Amino acid sequence: MRISQTFSKTTKTVPGDEKAINALLLIKAGFIYKEMAGVYAYLPLGLRVIENIKTIIRDEMNKLGASELLMTSLQAKDVWQTTGRWSDDVVDIWFKSKLQNGTEVGLGWSHEEPLMAMISKYVKSYRDLPVSVYQFQTKLRNELRAKSGIMRGREFLMKDMYSFNRSQKELDDFYDRTKQAYLNVYERVGLGPYTFMTFASGGSFTQFSHEFQTETSSGEDVIYLDRTKRLAVNEEVYSDSVLAQLGLKKSELEQINAAEVGNIFNFGSVKGEQMGVYFTDDKGIRQPIYLSSYGIGVSRLMGVIAEHFNDESGLVWPEAIAPAKVYLMAIGESKVTKLADQIYNILTGNGVAVLYDDRDIRPGEKFADADLMGIPWRVVVNSESVTNDRYEIKSRSKKTSEYMKQEAMVKKLAIHG
Ligand code: ATP
Ligand code: MG
Repeated sequence: MRISQTFSKTTKTVPGDEKAINALLLIKAGFIYKEMAGVYAYLPLGLRVIENIKTIIRDEMNKLGASELLMTSLQAKDVWQTTGRWSDDVVDIWFKSKLQNGTEVGLGWSHEEPLMAMISKYVKSYRDLPVSVYQFQTKLRNELRAKSGIMRGREFLMKDMYSFNRSQKELDDFYDRTKQAYLNVYERVGLGPYTFMTFASGGSFTQFSHEFQTETSSGEDVIYLDRTKRLAVNEEVYSDSVLAQLGLKKSELEQINAAEVGNIFNFGSVKGEQMGVYFTDDKGIRQPIYLSSYGIGVSRLMGVIAEHFNDESGLVWPEAIAPAKVYLMAIGESKVTKLADQIYNILTGNGVAVLYDDRDIRPGEKFADADLMGIPWRVVVNSESVTNDRYEIKSRSKKTSEYMKQEAMVKKLAIHG
């Protein structure tokens, strides 16, 4: 990607009402655009981060055997009435609208009910099971407060997966494999060391759900963490009896702020019964389907990563999700820019994602933007490169430079990571 061809720009001016670090950094770096409170557009560089996170999640979900689909944002009222969740007293974040003929529709804040209704049309017999499906969907929620930047949007991107099983045992096995897949996702996006499985409220269906909580001062949740066991309890279920049940000791728990980056629910057969989703078992008997649902806040994850990985100069993306691996810039006249053009072609030809700062601006601005955008490796092409085959490669996270010949530089960047 050539910067001269992208329209977004880094900026020092940010909306006056924006307080969240993630949004301030991402707006300044030209990754997102604030449409209104809690509503952000993803610009080309920001979208790349989102797509990189999605690729990792997709890989882990596919490994579980789940298949991807895409549900609709406009939802029918009747499917939500079967569970009572159409009511604004039960779900207080609905956006609703009406068709021209007066028919009420909901704007998807979640997809459980529509998905169950759809699946029940296809899955009828034990031979059709087990099955699991997932999607990446924009969720719309009329959140009361939206002060955490992209960590709490009124419009945000979620990955939601649903599994359908024939027995509690089959469901529990899948549920446990998903827990591990979730931990893999957080590890791969760079948040592994800071993310903890957390016992949380299970709603009306089950005693606990499992949240994945990332330690961050900007998180809206309070959890009690056993750092050695890497297990936590959300304050909403924190009590002596719960600790005893989970074998956790109060004296070994730390109270920390965290952001919920994922939440999974094992509903057993209760929800299937409630929603009337049944299958016929191998003896011809009608049984409720065993269900669970699994969410990851994709855009919140990006916000949490931005909060975690930054310094006084800007963002510091983990390599796995950075919008590019290399920030390439030329400092000098036509011979230098010609060589930089060549390096751009060589690196991209070797499969390296390069953000090429080919703008005709002061070097200082290029250095500042490279830091602000947080691309893992910065490569500078200057007159020394032309005369002595010498290139500077700087690590954004370590802040250290190495000087290399072209061949070694290309080899390092093509292999590294
Ligand atoms: P919260 O308690 O933060 O409001 P939730 O428990 O209502 O979230 P879920 O319905 O469990 O959220 O959604 C699954 C995941 O989607 C959450 O774990 C979170 O990562 C993400 N998420 C939920 N609400 C938002 C939001 N308003 N903006 C961005 N991400 C969100
Ligand atoms: Mg939740």
